Amino acid sequence: MTITDPTHTATTAHAASEATHASEAAHASEAADIDVARAALRARLLDDGVLIDLGSPGLYGRTGVFTRVYDAVDAAAVRSQADLDADVLRFPPVEPLAAFEQTDYIASFPDLAASISGFTGDDRTHRALLAARERGERWESFLQPADLMLTPAVCHPVYGLVTGTLPDGGRMFDIVGDSFRREPSLDPMRLQAFHMHEFVHIGTPATAQQHRDGRIPVMRELLESFGLEIDVVPANDPFFGRVGQMLARNQVEQSLKFEFVTPVYGHDHPWTAISSANLHEDHFGTSFAIRTADGEVAHSACIAFGLERITIALFAAHGTDPDAWPTEVLAALGL
Ligand code: ATP
Ligand code: MG
Ligand code: ZN
Repeated sequence: MTITDPTHTATTAHAASEATHASEAAHASEAADIDVARAALRARLLDDGVLIDLGSPGLYGRTGVFTRVYDAVDAAAVRSQADLDADVLRFPPVEPLAAFEQTDYIASFPDLAASISGFTGDDRTHRALLAARERGERWESFLQPADLMLTPAVCHPVYGLVTGTLPDGGRMFDIVGDSFRREPSLDPMRLQAFHMHEFVHIGTPATAQQHRDGRIPVMRELLESFGLEIDVVPANDPFFGRVGQMLARNQVEQSLKFEFVTPVYGHDHPWTAISSANLHEDHFGTSFAIRTADGEVAHSACIAFGLERITIALFAAHGTDPDAWPTEVLAALGL
């Protein structure tokens, strides 16, 4: 595994850690600069007909040219992991509250979580809703939580399915689907609704670590074959609140998660994570009562391709007309 230059920070990196490299004033101007760079990429993607603004930050419609590249990225990602012989599973974009509960996501990322609500009221409540709407007021408070959460990470629903004892060698899954995270942003690399393609292993501590570490060179090679400059750096997730600071430190100190970052906005700005490789240790094994064939608590690891981020990084690096991209890049994508 090659880990180079850990000073690069992904877009999640907090201002505090960046500020250690620069004075406050310089930092403020750097922040303004990156906003300009983000706005420029966003405008280019919209003007050139790659994405369609849906009127809410981080929500886009996708056109034919976007889809052509996105599908090629996904297919290349799948080809690169074919040797895993993973079991294919697909899930809806929402998960039962009970399953969401068991992941503990609400403890670490309450600010990113989002739930589904539905109308369960009677005629009178409906009239009150309509009256509020007539007055131009928000009416969603008339809806009730529906015991469904939008799935923030596509592997979540799998752990409940393997409760109990794993077969020898553990399990390997191929899961792609919708993710929702409530992080509205004008950065076209940070969406609210996006997709990740994950290859998830659940097994022993050794096989989980082997999965996380062993796939890193393969993923790096794939992303580099797309003509993207890639660095692999320890991740620093934005765990929420005071306890979160401890979890974030733990994640970095124990090198649990690595991100594949690329300089979408140039070398002077934080690089953006387009994929990740994450070791959960016994987190899900304990919560979902999963045991290995020898009766130990199972460990798990995921590798995740951020499909929109890779696609948009390609448009940023090579332009918005794929027909004009370098032939090696088109070949790597099978285009
Ligand atoms: P970031 O640090 O940029 O917030 P993350 O650590 O939250 O990313 P993961 O949880 O590792 O991301 O998710 C796997 C992949 O999904 C990421 O590497 C990234 O490519 C993609 N991804 C994550 N959040 C978003 C988002 N808001 N919009 C688009 N893609 C995303
Ligand atoms: Mg994030
Ligand atoms: Zn996962």
